[in-house]
Amino acid sequence: LFSRLVEWVIPLSLLSIFPSIAYTISQGVYEFAFFDVIFLCILLYVGFGKNIENNNRKLLYMAFLYCTALLLLIYVGAAGPGQLFLYTACIQGLLILSSRYAYLWSWLNLAAVFIFAIVLHFQLSPMEAANDFDVVEWLVIATNLIFLSFLSSALIPQIFYGLSVTFRSHQDLQKKLSLKNKEQKVLLVELKEKNMELEQFAYIASHDLQEPLRMIGSFMGLLQKNYQTQLDDKANQYIHFAVDGARRMKAIILDLLEYSRAGKPDHTVEKISFSEVLEEYAELRRDIIAQKDATIIYNNLPEINGYKLPLVQALYNLIDNALKYAKEEVAPKVSIYVIDKDDEWLFSVKDNGIGIEERFFDRIFVMFQRLHNKDEYHGTGIGLAIVKKNIESMNGKIWVESVKGEGSTFHLTVPKLP
Ligand code: ADP
Repeated sequence: LFSRLVEWVIPLSLLSIFPSIAYTISQGVYEFAFFDVIFLCILLYVGFGKNIENNNRKLLYMAFLYCTALLLLIYVGAAGPGQLFLYTACIQGLLILSSRYAYLWSWLNLAAVFIFAIVLHFQLSPMEAANDFDVVEWLVIATNLIFLSFLSSALIPQIFYGLSVTFRSHQDLQKKLSLKNKEQKVLLVELKEKNMELEQFAYIASHDLQEPLRMIGSFMGLLQKNYQTQLDDKANQYIHFAVDGARRMKAIILDLLEYSRAGKPDHTVEKISFSEVLEEYAELRRDIIAQKDATIIYNNLPEINGYKLPLVQALYNLIDNALKYAKEEVAPKVSIYVIDKDDEWLFSVKDNGIGIEERFFDRIFVMFQRLHNKDEYHGTGIGLAIVKKNIESMNGKIWVESVKGEGSTFHLTVPKLP
């Protein structure tokens, strides 16, 4: 701040020093012109002098200001710019020096006022016009200067203190924030690595487990077929449990495999006609639709650009669930909507099934989280986790709205693609 101040003061001071030198010489007041030159030299020394300690440079500058102010008072009088100089000296002192000296500048102003009062009283000014001022009048006028000086000495350091506290806390916060950001980045990298490891593990485990499981299933099947008559009812029941277990395990392994493959960005963007997608669905699930007397309702579904496989998979999964979690004795009614939402598509699958309690709205999207046991509704608890992973990999969102006993609506959004 001080160096900026000096940078501006030196050229600007020429604006007042040169006319002053010219005027005082024309008036025959040569000593004032001499002081002007001395002051210019001091100012240049403050600005460009080598090997001066910064604090001394500042003190010299302040001394220069006060001397200028005093001389202006003595030579030009109370009506001149002396008072103005005293006040700016106080302000500049407050700005460039420590707040420890805050009141020093006000006291110096008070001293200058009294010095000039003495000059007036004893008519000491070399300029007649300057002596032409009443001491009491001067003191009354100067009280304003003293009042403003002390007010500034009290307030300006406080403003600076407040600013520095805010600035420091801002800096602290920024430091903390950048530290947190760094930590977060490291954690994110670790998380990504762990996720990749986990997916790799899920893939290898589910892939490699298929073969031994197939063997268990087929040998159990052979045991049942070839030895059914030789075994008693209990043994046959055990075989039945084992075959059923192997079948369920196969379903889990296949779903796990699908989960580990979901969300891979290796799909291409294509035009998808959702009316066609749903016609195909109705054809594929013809039996279950007929068996449940289900109705699938959709009107004028748009053609959109998107990643076909994960989107169709998600839709199939949601409609499968809508049919599976239907109320007993009530024919399932599933409505599908696709709504244009400016920069994204909103898909909704609404059913009239058993519904879900609000506290489970998040849980159902987590792997292996089921709200029913396998005897009520078959399943692995992975379907919605696959849908979520697929949708999120397309920067989309999925959520559910439901009232238990009254049906559910699953919504998902995906950004529009060109
Ligand atoms: P799964 O159907 O194999 O159990 P999901 O991940 O598809 O696995 O679903 C998780 C759970 O969410 C289900 O067990 C079920 O309790 C609940 N759920 C999913 N869809 C519906 C629906 N349309 N109506 C009611 N409950 C549902």
